[in-house]
Amino acid sequence: MTELLRTGDAGYDEARTVWNAMIDRRPAAVARCSTTAEVVDAIRYGQEHDLEIAVRCGGHSIAGHAVPEGGLMIDLTPMNAVRVDPVARRAWVQGGAMLGELDKAAQEHGLATTAGNVSHTGVGGLTLGGGMGWLARRFGLACDNVISYEVVTADGSVVRASADENAELFWGLRGGGGNFGVVTSFEFQLHEIGTRALIVEVTYAADGAFDALRGWRELNADAPREATFTAYISGDTVTLGYIWVGDGGYDLLPAFRALGTVTGEVVEETTYLKLQTRDDNVQGHRFRRYWKGHYFKSLPDEALLALLRNPGVGASLQAYGGAIADVPDEAAAFSHRDTLFELVTAMRWEDPAEDETWIGTLREYAATLAPYASGAYLNTLNGDPIQRAFPPAKLDRLTALKTTYDPGNVFHLNQNITPAVLDGTGAA
Ligand code: FAD
Repeated sequence: MTELLRTGDAGYDEARTVWNAMIDRRPAAVARCSTTAEVVDAIRYGQEHDLEIAVRCGGHSIAGHAVPEGGLMIDLTPMNAVRVDPVARRAWVQGGAMLGELDKAAQEHGLATTAGNVSHTGVGGLTLGGGMGWLARRFGLACDNVISYEVVTADGSVVRASADENAELFWGLRGGGGNFGVVTSFEFQLHEIGTRALIVEVTYAADGAFDALRGWRELNADAPREATFTAYISGDTVTLGYIWVGDGGYDLLPAFRALGTVTGEVVEETTYLKLQTRDDNVQGHRFRRYWKGHYFKSLPDEALLALLRNPGVGASLQAYGGAIADVPDEAAAFSHRDTLFELVTAMRWEDPAEDETWIGTLREYAATLAPYASGAYLNTLNGDPIQRAFPPAKLDRLTALKTTYDPGNVFHLNQNITPAVLDGTGAA
């Protein structure tokens, strides 16, 4: 049987501590799973003891979905092995691995797949929700690079999902979040990317910020897929740039320098692995956190002006497009492939007395941007309705899938897709 940790046991507090320090919940037990069989045991144990079940990988869900108050936490972090076949360009990644573990193992061979920007984020939660990273415009989202999943479903069955095995489950796992079971293994397609990256960040004088943003938006329309445009706005400071993975990348620099009066600049050649850990400290644990997210299909001038009415919080934009948009919308649960930019507006602080101020400020700022938004990324939803991540037809299909695999909503501590209510005959 799986090792169960309870209050007072060594490792219990570590397991229940997640990225957002606002989350301080106490599970009745933590099942530290090392094998698929232990995950099966844990799911059965939780249901037999009527415990609310949560699944932990990197612990980076902003809402702290991985930690159930008084329930059972299925802690996958002991399952962090990554195996790479450099010839087949495949990686098999256990369900509790962190992005840094995947990146490191793949980069030993000059390979990589799309992964997020902070190495202590979990492969599990990130990939199941979609998975945006610096390679996505070239190779698609993390979920677009999954070839197969091993999943333990709510009834304790171990199933494989791929394009030709349990194809509907495969469809739902690609962007539908942690709704359909516990993924114990992901098989990823890897790509040859070399080891080099270029970071460009240019800061402009505040009085020219609007014009700079407009120019940046126009440049983005023709950006090569190696480049992912970024913008960071906080108060009246605007920094625009791009991340380039691969050789070259300097051709765009003069156009950025010409966007306005430059007051500061970072132009840094680095390795892909260093790029992937660059924000690890600033995005470190211990802090109280809140964010709101939006997708934008277009950024009209009024939206840029609204973005610039920034109340001193962080607003980060990252470009989509390229290979993300090449995938037909109906091919996977992930939606909003026509997104031009993703916004995350976020703050961190330490004093609980500041909670209300920052949460209120972020909500208000996000509300002023909502009229221009086309939806939101599942993994940035924070108190938002699930409908922001999926259009109605997708949500209907996901609901049907949820009803098949988890009719009792055992896996509900997530960005939840609720199953249809069954009438006892099995019909929805
Ligand atoms: P957890 O809290 O452990 O898990 C979140 C949920 O995912 C769980 O409740 C569970 O429902 C599900 N889950 C996790 N693992 C499994 C599994 N193996 N099987 C079944 N369900 C599972 N997103 C991006 O796309 N790109 C980024 O660059 C990016 N950067 C980020 C940086 C930081 C610092 C943070 C905090 C978040 C970032 N995100 C990014 C968002 C991130 O994708 C989500 O926060 C995601 O939920 C984190 O997954 P996790 O495994 O770390 O979190």
